[in-house]
Amino acid sequence: MIPAASYAAPAARAPLGPYHFQRRDPRPSDVVIEILWCGVCHSDLHQIRDEWGQGQFPMVPGHEIVGRVIDTGHDVKGFSPGQLAGVGCMVDSCRECPSCREGLEQFCEKGFTGTYASKDRQDGTPTQGGYSSVIVVDEAFVLRIPDNLEPAAVAPLLCAGITTYSPLKHWKIGPGSKVGVVGLGGLGHMALKLAHAFGAQVVQFTTSPSKRDDAMRLGADIVVMSNDSAAMKEHAATFDFILDTVSAPHDLNAYLQLLKRDGTMTLLGLPDTPPTVHGGPLLFGRRQLAGSLIGGIAETQEMLDFCGQHGIVSDIEVIAIQDINEAYERMLRSDVKYRFVIDMASLSKDTR
Ligand code: NAP
Ligand code: ZN
Ligand code: ZN
Repeated sequence: MIPAASYAAPAARAPLGPYHFQRRDPRPSDVVIEILWCGVCHSDLHQIRDEWGQGQFPMVPGHEIVGRVIDTGHDVKGFSPGQLAGVGCMVDSCRECPSCREGLEQFCEKGFTGTYASKDRQDGTPTQGGYSSVIVVDEAFVLRIPDNLEPAAVAPLLCAGITTYSPLKHWKIGPGSKVGVVGLGGLGHMALKLAHAFGAQVVQFTTSPSKRDDAMRLGADIVVMSNDSAAMKEHAATFDFILDTVSAPHDLNAYLQLLKRDGTMTLLGLPDTPPTVHGGPLLFGRRQLAGSLIGGIAETQEMLDFCGQHGIVSDIEVIAIQDINEAYERMLRSDVKYRFVIDMASLSKDTR
């Protein structure tokens, strides 16, 4: 076994603290990765508060992982020690169902294996995430990192990047599209950068007046304060697509009315209470309300390569693992510019 140092939530809603556990010895197709950087996703916060009701404790969160390969099983072909590697939200799936065969492992009909808060398919042990010193993952779920990008700022691409890239591709966003992004946090700022890079006209909706200048710098053509009903009305029935990244309950109806006929609004956020949706804006205009979940492994690699070609990374605030509980408090106040990334070297201060 391989000893791992980490920070874990001992129980739902408890603060994270140092935790030691063992990773498995590498199986033939496994890659052993020393973790250098791990992004902090709002999903980590939902999970440690057990808002999705599937928590397993102690829980080591973290699914935006960039590290260095330190060992490989004897069947591994694509990775070798010394190379940078990434791991996102999934570490396995059934690999046989129609979704897996199509490269849509996130929709595996038997349920994908999450990087944490899940169970290993072979031995049933709990999976533990990236707020840790080392991880062991089958190479089919390990990503290559473009070598021209700063590794720390690549980490958030493994969840926030793919989660926004995938729906923009699926709904064929490109030049001529008018796209709205609701919420300027980790997902929102990547949606802005990517929709802009795809050539769309992008409107950022925010509740934070202080983020206006940043939104313009990150790729918005227009910024709208979502509590300004006159400004909202100016955009009525003009959007092809709206990507909603908000992590808390909020009114969807105000945005549905901004879609053109046949326009789509796609939800990415997953608050613990369901939204109230009025049928009116959907019926009048045949508008659609949809959802999207991360992206498949091949598409995640495609996104990373796209970001490499276009020089796109996340805007990050690097923190030490000892600051994680405070970082969560700031995330709850929508005060992140625009993704926290943990420098895993900081683990050595108290646990390695
Ligand atoms: P985040 O960094 O905390 O950003 C969320 C943003 O939502 C905030 O910055 C804020 O933007 C806005 N917001 C927060 N509370 C609000 C409220 N009460 N009313 C209106 N706006 C509010 O979170 P994130 O990491 O981007 O994650 C966002 C959501 O996506 C979470 O629910 C997360 O679990 C989910 N998620 C889903 C997937 C998927 O596959 N679908 C993947 C990853 C994450 P402004 O300050 O601009 O208003
Ligand atoms: Zn995430
Ligand atoms: Zn499957």
